[in-house]
Amino acid sequence: MAESETPLGQRAPARSDVASLVGYHSPQVDVDVRLNTNEAAEPPPPGFMSDLRQALAGMDLNRYPDRGADRLRAALGDRYGLDPDWVFCANGSNEVLQSTLLAYGGAGRSAAVFEPTYAMHSQIARITGTRLVRSTRRSDFSLHRDLLAETVEAEQPDVLFLCSPNNPTGMLDPDGLVQSALDLLEPHGGLLVVDEAYGQFAPTSAVSLLGEDQSLVVSRTFSKTWAMAGLRLGYLLGPPWCLSELEKVVLPYHLDSIKQEAGILALVYGGEMEARVQAVIAERERLTSALGELPVTVWPSQANFVLFRPETMSGTQAWQGLLDRSVLVRDFSSVAGLKDCLRVTIGTESEDDRFLVALREVLL
Ligand SMILES: *Cc1c(COP(=O)(O)O)cnc(C)c1O
Repeated sequence: MAESETPLGQRAPARSDVASLVGYHSPQVDVDVRLNTNEAAEPPPPGFMSDLRQALAGMDLNRYPDRGADRLRAALGDRYGLDPDWVFCANGSNEVLQSTLLAYGGAGRSAAVFEPTYAMHSQIARITGTRLVRSTRRSDFSLHRDLLAETVEAEQPDVLFLCSPNNPTGMLDPDGLVQSALDLLEPHGGLLVVDEAYGQFAPTSAVSLLGEDQSLVVSRTFSKTWAMAGLRLGYLLGPPWCLSELEKVVLPYHLDSIKQEAGILALVYGGEMEARVQAVIAERERLTSALGELPVTVWPSQANFVLFRPETMSGTQAWQGLLDRSVLVRDFSSVAGLKDCLRVTIGTESEDDRFLVALREVLL
């Protein structure tokens, strides 16, 4: 039957809040230089790939995976000096955050975000039927205790999201902000979620504030530092009473055997990964100062990307100019508070040079 002849009444309607949603998209375009999704520029170390191949050869794929991901959780816990029951693993930190809102958000509950920030926090709130409380940061993108206090007093959110370093601004929350958020939430019983997807690039972390009687969890991922975006593995650190609720909302055997093994093997290469983080930081500083020579506003970043705003044309025009030169960055031009802003991921030295040459051509 032709499309136009299908009576609309026969089409089952989706949940109305889902039907009105716009999906989360980062364009996947075929270009020479891909600097739009904050992936690692280099593949995982060669030794890791051969270890993984060897592990694959001996894997019983006819069997369900280890349901509790016990070895992986123990290996991750070791890294932070935590017992395995302080670690929850999922398919990327996005699934970690979704599991958190399935357990702690949902109908009749609310989650607070401070924009501009990582858009998936709001998206996952909507998908899980969690009422969204949106507060706006100052125009310099900083987040202050006053705004936290105002939001918590007015809305008493069940979940409060912080993101440090923040995506897409690259800014680290000031010292003491996580503790302030905990103190503010305590009388109301809300859960504080600190998204540290870029935590390895930054000098401070909320992990040191974790405690048995704190309503604090910290999410991290293998997608950025660990060069494993394709494997989809993220984790949450937090007290066992909290994480055990998350274990109830995930599907049975959600974490496949290959991913579990890959995560365990990746941790063996911790030293190599740390060296890469230092190299990315050095390259970030080089890119930031090179951008300073061009007609753009640059926000100093503590992550593996840099936010900037062209001064001589619109963000979308500059984005298109870069794309015409086969360089893809992320366009935030139409996002509230980020007018004309673009975000570039730190690539290899030669990728970054191509980006800089292309941007100079576009802007000058
Ligand atoms: C990239 C990113 C994530 C999620 O990544 P996964 O690939 O799902 O682990 C989470 N939070 C922030 C802030 C990110 O930028």
